[in-house]
Amino acid sequence: MYSLLLIKPKSSPSHQPLVISGPSGVGKGTLIQRLINTHPNTFALTVSHTTREPRPGETDGVAYHFVSHDAFLSLISQNAFVEHAFFSGNHYGTSKKTITDQVAKGLIVVLDIEMDGVRQMRESNGSSSSVDARYVYIKPPSLESLEARLRGRGTEKEDDIQKRLAQARRELEYAEQGVHDKVIVNDDVDRAYKELEGFVFGSIL
Ligand code: ADP
Ligand code: 5GP
Repeated sequence: MYSLLLIKPKSSPSHQPLVISGPSGVGKGTLIQRLINTHPNTFALTVSHTTREPRPGETDGVAYHFVSHDAFLSLISQNAFVEHAFFSGNHYGTSKKTITDQVAKGLIVVLDIEMDGVRQMRESNGSSSSVDARYVYIKPPSLESLEARLRGRGTEKEDDIQKRLAQARRELEYAEQGVHDKVIVNDDVDRAYKELEGFVFGSIL
């Protein structure tokens, strides 16, 4: 189902896609943006499709491909996604195209996805259609700090914050299963970034 045969031969072990996950509001976007800004010729973020509404400042085709529910279902039926999930009332998915586009430029792709997407990619591991990726989990110092960050970001309404916090508990439990190659606690953003960079380059250089 998640056929990536076009991608596999181009991915050497040192250029494996980097899959970053963790609860909403933990700081994934902040850390990924810093990684890409610091190393623009090395990493590129995949542009997912989503049915959620754009936040102020988010541009279509840059933050996400913002699509209708019907358009998303149509892409599923065309087998366009590497993985896709339903999160907090909306669909999200990584297209095969967003990966192949960046890989073709010689860049290491970074995926910012939630746990069902990680699970799908993990489950395809070892099959002929698997994505040979590295999995990093960004963990909050506590649920209280996560809630404070989510509220502080000011991008979701109260009912969405509640849904995201409920999902955060599931994300934390999933990470306890030891499915990730690296777990980074995002306590201090500078410290956490150095740890991420160390992990990423530790296996590239
Ligand atoms: P995610 O992409 O995981 O949903 P964001 O990167 O949008 O999370 O971060 C959520 C909020 O938390 C943002 O307002 C961001 O500036 C803030 N933030 C990120 N890292 C830290 C940190 N280590 N300490 C405090 N606030 C942080
Ligand atoms: P947000 O609405 O805050 O941008 O994203 C909500 C959640 O969806 C985050 O945990 C983010 O990692 C996840 N997400 C974004 N794009 C994708 C995707 O393509 N696939 C999956 N499975 N999750 C995604």
